Amino acid sequence: MRETLSAFLDAQLDFIFFFYGLAFLLLGAICFAAAGEGPRRAGWVTLAFFGYAHGAVEWLDLLALVIGDGPAFALARKALMTGSYLLLLEFARMEAGAFGAGKPGRWIHIPLALVVAVVAAGAGLASASAVARYIIGFPAALGAALVFAGGARTLTVAARRYAYLAAAAFALYAFCAGLVVAPAPFWPASVLDSRRFVAATGVPIQLLRGLLACGIAFSVWSIRQHQLALELSSRRFATYLRRQFVWTVAAMMAILLCGWGLTDFLGAIYQRNIQEETRSDLDLLASRFVGETAALSGMTATLAGSPSVRPGPEGDAPQASEAARITLRLHVEASGAETGLLLDASGRIVAAAAAAAAGEAAASEGDYASKRPFREAIGGVASRCMTYDPADRGVVFHASAPIRDAGGGVVGVATLAKPLVALQADLRRFDRRYFLLDADGVVTMTNRDALMPRPMWPLSPDRLREVERRYGPLDDRPLLERELGESNWVTLEGEQGYEQGYVRRRFIDTEGWSVAIATPTRELFASRVLGIVVTLLVTMMTLIYLIGQERRLQDGIQMEKRLRLQELARDLGQQAVTDRLTGLFNRLKFDQALASEMLRAQRYGAPLSLVLFDVDNFKSINDAHGHQIGDRTLVRLAEAMAGLVRGTDILARWGGEEFALLTPGVDGAAALKAAEKLRASIETLDVDGVDGTTCGFAITCSFGVTQFSDEDRAEDFVGRADEALYLAKLRGRNRVEMVTRSPAAGGLA
Ligand code: GH3
Ligand code: MG
Ligand code: MG
Repeated sequence: MRETLSAFLDAQLDFIFFFYGLAFLLLGAICFAAAGEGPRRAGWVTLAFFGYAHGAVEWLDLLALVIGDGPAFALARKALMTGSYLLLLEFARMEAGAFGAGKPGRWIHIPLALVVAVVAAGAGLASASAVARYIIGFPAALGAALVFAGGARTLTVAARRYAYLAAAAFALYAFCAGLVVAPAPFWPASVLDSRRFVAATGVPIQLLRGLLACGIAFSVWSIRQHQLALELSSRRFATYLRRQFVWTVAAMMAILLCGWGLTDFLGAIYQRNIQEETRSDLDLLASRFVGETAALSGMTATLAGSPSVRPGPEGDAPQASEAARITLRLHVEASGAETGLLLDASGRIVAAAAAAAAGEAAASEGDYASKRPFREAIGGVASRCMTYDPADRGVVFHASAPIRDAGGGVVGVATLAKPLVALQADLRRFDRRYFLLDADGVVTMTNRDALMPRPMWPLSPDRLREVERRYGPLDDRPLLERELGESNWVTLEGEQGYEQGYVRRRFIDTEGWSVAIATPTRELFASRVLGIVVTLLVTMMTLIYLIGQERRLQDGIQMEKRLRLQELARDLGQQAVTDRLTGLFNRLKFDQALASEMLRAQRYGAPLSLVLFDVDNFKSINDAHGHQIGDRTLVRLAEAMAGLVRGTDILARWGGEEFALLTPGVDGAAALKAAEKLRASIETLDVDGVDGTTCGFAITCSFGVTQFSDEDRAEDFVGRADEALYLAKLRGRNRVEMVTRSPAAGGLA
């Protein structure tokens, strides 16, 4: 079960890298958004850069998986990984200061980076990568965990939960990314490494790291959202956030699961294609071998059955006549064999022939009697086998057939041996990588590698010794990790480092020789990448939609707030210049208007007049009808007066039951007329009681009018109007009086 799970997840490594990288890139984006302005900005931005850099590392790992790895690419990735951990360390270092914790200076990065560089130069990238994780990644992630745990105190209760979650995720991440490292040849990497981890748990460590990165990203995001909700202090936003959280998590999970399904589906299509193609290529290859050897076996059979070779009626061995020799030579030449032999039952050579190129001596070399083909043929069975000739580094095919006497008894063996050089030359053009394997799994022919023979998979020391006795010393690094079955997905040593591949194998003779074809599966990843890219696009679109949605709501809430404030300000401004009871302008506004109108009149020489009027015997109205009716009377009066004056006039409540009317562009005489009109209309004004039922009563007002003169100060101007009003009261009330400035010193007119 664990095996299948790990094999399944291993095949999904590309998607896991994608997911891992995506989580970190999201963390980067979220931290950037959370950075805002303010003193903590630098810390957040550093964490954001860590997220971006580490996400990029994971995606580059994915790329390496897809397009293949190389030493320079691997170095760049490891350097970026080290840099990303330094950024995380810098984040922890900066933020540690915010809690008053003691912290090392920024110089700390230099020795750490130097140690990693020295290890890389001395012991290779694998060791350097492990060291970087131990001395930078682990303390950095642990530091980040402490920063989040320590910073939780400063947050609201709701946000605090997420800070602790982020702290826990970072602490686990410290273990998964800082302690579980890729295998390296020193303690503790030799004890706790990612390969052992996956063997023990069935889960690739990258999947856990990716899940933790997701946890960190979501926690930071939630903290930010809660802070935002606090800033906006909007209930609507808070509920929206809760809903959005659920939706985002659900949408992300659905997208990633569908994406995973799509990726796997696309991969499976390609996988089937590869299997089909490899199978048909293997058919072709096997038939080439079988065809080549079947022809030689046939020739050997006809040689053994030829009358000039078979013994005469009383002979008990193959003929050694000239005719037999000629037949043997003919068969050697016709079959393209290198050597041909006729042997008697004891294994002694009766006749020998060799191709011109091989030389006559080649034929009689070797001890045939003890070899299996001879033993089989002498037993009455036609035999075929292949041998590897370490001297020529070539495979030789041997076909043997029994020679029978007239009675059917086996009296000797005919054998032809043909090197497969021509076939090998022909197969060099075969574009798939193929291997001809002997019974021990040693590669004896291939179209790619000159380092033959070489074991395809690890051999036991005994077998290796046995093979080396036959072939001489060989390059004992196996090409694969374990023995091939019929159909295998493997990691294969390729031209540039190891690569993923699919290998199919088929036996081609009874001795255990087989052919195998390897197809690199880079394209398999390429077709899976299509699924990954689609997933990425959908993720991006969904995130953009969700972020846009949030932005819109945020903007909406802020806009509402701004409008409310503006309204409030407008109301306040209005209130400041309005009399509360009557709704007319108040004294403040009147004084401002008076000052500006006086300036205007002085500058343009336009006439300006002022009318002051006061309700007659208002005290007695209050006394008779009550204060409320008094107020109502003032309101009614104000309404009526506002309806009568011009738009350019400024009508204000001067105080108590006294009103002022400033009339720009109107001279004293016209103002006098206007005042008279107002006085007359007030006389006819009917004032209701509070409930509208009390019978109405009439009021009257006395008016004082004056015209502005250029030399007037405000108090002169107002004073004269007041004088005029006083005169009107004095002269019997309910009348209009005007006072004009005397040419001398402003005496009464
Ligand atoms: P005169 O004809 O000489 O102006 O007599 P008067 O009674 O109107 O003059 P006086 O200045 O003696 O009295 C003004 C009264 O107006 C006194 C005060 O109680 C009343 N009054 C002033 N402001 C208000 C107000 O806002 N509402 C009410 N109901 N009464 C007010
Ligand atoms: Mg009065
Ligand atoms: Mg008064």
